[in-house]
Amino acid sequence: MTGPHPPGPVRPDTLTLLGTGDSKGVPRFWCACPVCAEARGAHGQPGVNRRTRTATLLRSGGQSALLDAGPDTHAGLARLSGPLVPDAVFISHAHNDHLLGLGDLLDYVRYADGRLRVYAPPEVVPQIAARFPYAFPAGEAGPVRPIPPRGVPVGGVTVRAFRVPHGANGHSHAYRLDRPAGAGEQGWSAAVVTDAIGIPLELARTWLRGPGGAGLDTLLLGTSFEDESGVPLTGRSVYDVREALALPWARAARQVILTHLSHGVDVRRAAHLPPGWGYARDDLTVPLARPPATPNL
Ligand SMILES: [Zn+2]
Ligand SMILES: [Zn+2]
Repeated sequence: MTGPHPPGPVRPDTLTLLGTGDSKGVPRFWCACPVCAEARGAHGQPGVNRRTRTATLLRSGGQSALLDAGPDTHAGLARLSGPLVPDAVFISHAHNDHLLGLGDLLDYVRYADGRLRVYAPPEVVPQIAARFPYAFPAGEAGPVRPIPPRGVPVGGVTVRAFRVPHGANGHSHAYRLDRPAGAGEQGWSAAVVTDAIGIPLELARTWLRGPGGAGLDTLLLGTSFEDESGVPLTGRSVYDVREALALPWARAARQVILTHLSHGVDVRRAAHLPPGWGYARDDLTVPLARPPATPNL
């Protein structure tokens, strides 16, 4: 796909985590727990647990795409150093914490005259139309296109979506990102799985492994709480940290970043996470390429 960007120095493929909170954000505005208190901050500075709702910015080869656009997307884009029009926006499922930012973006689509492309899984497109009817005039092709099964190119990366169980909430979708090996460059594979629980092994074998069955290079995995074992499974919709640590496909990944974090996770307490694992923070930028020399591979 071609974009309006002028040619510039080649920058590595990255994910910038604009929003890393659960659906309620941290602090929850009604809550006085220690994590919410820390997140409110002091002396005008937010705490390290301050986190907004889901939005992730993929950058590759001078192009960019938003993977989900939660209600705080405008603020996340405003924190970037320069103006940015993403080349594409993807929506995983029709939950407010993943799509309300579309309010701003759909307005822009009308001015941009096709410059900004919005995609969602085919079954999610009508749900978005029901949420933003003014942007879908009767008799016209709407501004949101179905994600084709072969995926959508963003710079050198192919973005695909696959359906995952979302517990009490039915199902959601996750993103698979692939960069094929090129001249003198190693490829990589990554997955962004924010809202899922109980992914069957068969599905994981297809979507959560790299080429040849190896582990993914990067896994961004939603874990809303540290330990929800006290909550009946029927009321849950996202993995917790305890479950994530036991998932074979997560353990096989080279780097794992836990995101979609509620006030039940204090990112200052990460010492129990294994090497290569860490908690997400808003505005963290994660390199996607494999580091050049990895003697233990
Ligand atoms: Zn969510
Ligand atoms: Zn959800």
